[in-house]
Amino acid sequence: MKRKLVVIGNGMAGARLVEEILLRGGGERFEIVMFGDEPYGNYNRILLSNVLAGAHDPKDIFINPLRWYEDNHVKLHAGVRVASVDRAARLVHGDNGVVESYDDLVFAMGSSAFVPRMDGIEKNGVFVFRTLDDCDSIIKYTEGRKTAAVIGGGLLGLEAARGLMERGMKVHVVHLMNHLMEVQLDRMAGSILRSTLVRMGLQVHLEKATCEITGNGSVTGLRFKDGGTLDCDMVVISAGIRPNTQLAKEAGLTVARGIVVGDDLATPDDPNVFAIGECSEHDGKTYGLVAPLWDQARVLAERLSARRPQATYHGSKIATKLKVMGVDLAVMGDRESSGPDDEEVTYAEAKRGVYKKVIVRDGRIVGAILLGDPAAAPGLVQAFDRGVEVPDNRAELLFQLDAGAANTTRIEDLPDDTQICNCNGVSKGDILDAVKKGCRSLKVLCDTTRAGMGCGTCKKQVETLLEFGAGDSKVEDPSVHYYVPGVPLPKPDLVEEIRARGLKSVSAVFRELADGKEDPGSKPGLASLLKTLWGKDYVDERDARFINDRVHANIQRDATFSVIPRIYGGVTTADQLRAIADAADKYDAKMVKITGGQRIDLLGIKKEDLPNVWRDLGMPSGHAYSKAFRTCKTCVGSEFCRYGVGHSTELGIKIEERFQGIESPHKMKLATAGCPRNCSEATTKDIGAVAIEGGLWEIYVGGAAGSRVRKGDILCTVGSQEEVLLYTGRFMQYYRENGKYLERTYDFIERVGIDKVRAVVVDDAEGIAERLDAAMQASVDAYVDPWKETPHETQFSESLEPQGQLVQLRTARAVGER
Ligand SMILES: Cc1cc2nc3c(=O)[nH]c(=O)nc-3n(C[C@H](O)[C@H](O)[C@H](O)COP(=O)(O)OP(=O)(O)OC[C@H]3O[C@@H](n4cnc5c(N)ncnc54)[C@H](O)[C@@H]3O)c2cc1C
Ligand code: SF4
Repeated sequence: MKRKLVVIGNGMAGARLVEEILLRGGGERFEIVMFGDEPYGNYNRILLSNVLAGAHDPKDIFINPLRWYEDNHVKLHAGVRVASVDRAARLVHGDNGVVESYDDLVFAMGSSAFVPRMDGIEKNGVFVFRTLDDCDSIIKYTEGRKTAAVIGGGLLGLEAARGLMERGMKVHVVHLMNHLMEVQLDRMAGSILRSTLVRMGLQVHLEKATCEITGNGSVTGLRFKDGGTLDCDMVVISAGIRPNTQLAKEAGLTVARGIVVGDDLATPDDPNVFAIGECSEHDGKTYGLVAPLWDQARVLAERLSARRPQATYHGSKIATKLKVMGVDLAVMGDRESSGPDDEEVTYAEAKRGVYKKVIVRDGRIVGAILLGDPAAAPGLVQAFDRGVEVPDNRAELLFQLDAGAANTTRIEDLPDDTQICNCNGVSKGDILDAVKKGCRSLKVLCDTTRAGMGCGTCKKQVETLLEFGAGDSKVEDPSVHYYVPGVPLPKPDLVEEIRARGLKSVSAVFRELADGKEDPGSKPGLASLLKTLWGKDYVDERDARFINDRVHANIQRDATFSVIPRIYGGVTTADQLRAIADAADKYDAKMVKITGGQRIDLLGIKKEDLPNVWRDLGMPSGHAYSKAFRTCKTCVGSEFCRYGVGHSTELGIKIEERFQGIESPHKMKLATAGCPRNCSEATTKDIGAVAIEGGLWEIYVGGAAGSRVRKGDILCTVGSQEEVLLYTGRFMQYYRENGKYLERTYDFIERVGIDKVRAVVVDDAEGIAERLDAAMQASVDAYVDPWKETPHETQFSESLEPQGQLVQLRTARAVGER
């Protein structure tokens, strides 16, 4: 007869334990029952910050959907909280009345967010950040709000801040200590990280103790103990965690900070009751990262499945690679040296945000911090993990290890149990095993093992192992040829299917061509393509577009917007300038600036003022926010310039009038020059026309003068402005139909080859010139100035219904400590 195993907590530790047990044939030995008070299957909590940032859809972070439990004969009480454990009767009572008996019981209840004492935490707009539901509530509350304060400058606080910034909020991090992430970083690293994050637009307030969340019902600000205040529309509290131990305490188990367990992971009070994950305490230590729980789940699975009944756990050596608001960080072991015999080797380059520190004890690394330098991390982590003796020349230690470790500690030579993916606890052995079983492409390998599916920093190592294990049989992921990752079709096939099936909305494309699986990251690319293909018949769906495209303005660091009206060819009038000056005054523009494309930018405009600014300006949108035709920069040309041989301003105006707002895979910047002196830099634009002697125009395509500099290739030389318009439009349409999403013209030209582009666009080698011209004409005809469209009801609104009840519930849960 099977023993009955009950696991309380369906989070990262509990679910991993059950997986590990099943992997070892434990399904034969146990009837498994789980309780999880979240009403879902198990998901990757680490990726919550990506959900908050909008980079992941909630459904993409599930590790085990509800179906998995059914398929594996695991009885899951989803959404049921365990109210009590009767150890004498060996019974577990759910808060819905359900009762389960057990032979073995595992506590894996994780932690709760710690909420420091302060007034006003019951207000609408106060959140903690621990669960998918928290994340959902935060996202809903950000709509229409501008400023958020995050209380706590640790890892989770900064991750919450990143998510909120990605949602267009102005974010303040308020931290009690004198530097950020003091648990992982020393003071110098904390201060370099701070400077990096401030450059990214985060407002950081150190040594601030919050004593009150102010507001009448809903949050309006914070009050600090030093008397200072801060205005904000919402607050996320991320001030640390507390292990969930109450249930164990009530069941008579020994509890210190966590539920106390020995090397066998059993409680000292009962050999059949265990604890793992953040709620447990081993050897006086509790953990707040995932790496230890993978070790604990493995050891306990070995014991319970009787594969190795004597397996023991001796603590985890923490070496973690993280991304903090996109900044790479690796931390391992000690943060500070512990005595005069320890040696510290440090290197700091504050301007680049780089800091490296290694602590050496008895010739071995006992701690390290690597900030902003991902290349050095794998070598150091391995040297730390394996206790490698460091070279004598301490001054060169960091750099020798950087280069040397990569050479001498080849990943292929490491033991099979070396952990490659921290986020999902995947070892080298697991990866090579999957390759042996047939995974031949990086994507399939990552999907199968989950390696690389967390923060992504280990992907390079996973690829190296794939090459090592699969050799010549490694195959390229077909997805590199897809137009967008979420629809498995190269662009020409996708275009054909969209046309043949008449798919006019993004959701229709997912429904018909991606088995209904919506991929948020693919939506803007699809929206752009559909608009290109269908013009005014395209069916717009608001959630398919970025904030900039939704409000037709460019969001800035401080959550205000930049407004650039169209000034055709850079030629303006006194009336237009007056209207711009009036709007700048009336709507309190923080700066008025001439742009690199010869236009005038009103910066610092409030979101709710946008429709009024457009109305007052009475000028069309300059499309400075979208993946579309932007501007045509012009030089003075033959009308005034004594060198000019062509009327470049006249041509620039015609180009801009014709192609304004034309959507494309990426932005398109154009220019015209009145002679080869090229004052408007037309040869380094996406498309440029340069007048030469004899009334001719040279048309250049694929130029660049940004982070990359590239002189454009000559497409053709023509004899009139009308021909410039014709070939410019035909080239644009060819690029619109064949360029990958976010591929600039210079990458497109290099990928396709200028000879091929010339053959199609100029010589009509494929017989499609007429169709390209007609398609472009249709797009030109379909153009509607977005600033003249009636704003959508909620597009610019500032207030939403408060989420009162939900917020109070979440906060109360956090404060009440589970
Ligand atoms: C936003 C965020 C980002 C993070 N980023 C990282 C990172 O980058 N790297 C890293 O290493 N770690 C990170 N962590 C920490 C990591 O997620 C945790 O260490 C890990 O989830 C702990 O696993 P656990 O199973 O112990 O607890 P949890 O994953 O919290 O699971 C515990 C589960 O038990 C449930 N439960 C509690 N009490 C009961 C009860 N009485 N009855 C039924 N169910 C109950 C809880 O609701 C929860 O679902 C992050 C955490 C968060 C919140
Ligand atoms: S590019 Fe030639 S025509 Fe244009 S401003 Fe310069 S010198 Fe004059």
